[in-house]
Amino acid sequence: MIQLIPPKAFAQTSKVANTLLPASVDWYCPHCNRSVNFRLSWDIKSIPQPVIYCSSACSGCRKISVFIYVGFADSVLNPREGELYIHPEPSTRTPLNGIYESSKFNDGLKRAYESAINVYNVGEWTATAVLNRRMLEGIMKEILPLEKRNMPLAKQLEELPKHIDLQKPLITLAESLRKGGNLGAHFDLEKAPDENISTLMMDLLDYLIEYIYILPDRIDELDERVSSLSIR
Ligand SMILES: [Zn+2]
Repeated sequence: MIQLIPPKAFAQTSKVANTLLPASVDWYCPHCNRSVNFRLSWDIKSIPQPVIYCSSACSGCRKISVFIYVGFADSVLNPREGELYIHPEPSTRTPLNGIYESSKFNDGLKRAYESAINVYNVGEWTATAVLNRRMLEGIMKEILPLEKRNMPLAKQLEELPKHIDLQKPLITLAESLRKGGNLGAHFDLEKAPDENISTLMMDLLDYLIEYIYILPDRIDELDERVSSLSIR
């Protein structure tokens, strides 16, 4: 698999034929997982050509990764910008899709979440565990009323179901799928499902399957492994 490298990771850029090219990039090496600087010397025959690529050695382990730059030929930006990908895909974690669109996920939670991902990506396992716990405390603070926020964490967890309706998302999810299914089952020219509705329904179906079949098993597995280390 390939992985998208966001433009904020571009350390240096150059401009060739009104096209912005990343000249070096700070990213994770797929081989040693260190965050390193890759120098990118593109093999350019003519621009715009639909795709350019190059290989670059990690400054740490010296192993080679391939970089692919696409999309700039069609870009309407000035200068034209494209998307940079690395192959193979480093085993780094990135923030969950859609998390920044949630208004409840406040700035403090965002910062703590990014810190947790960063320390995980550099292999600081103790710091990762500490920041995961801090995230849990932060999430509890966001959900629980003021007077309960100073209780011990275990007590706060007991309080959780009183302040957040844990069943509601599952029931709303199933109900939305049912309503969407009716759009297809009953012929009505005015209310036929289109691509947007169908895509949304497939997403909802995936969430429902994850919620009922995948998450419970993964949670049990995690709990067993953590409990076997006798952590209280
Ligand atoms: Zn490396």
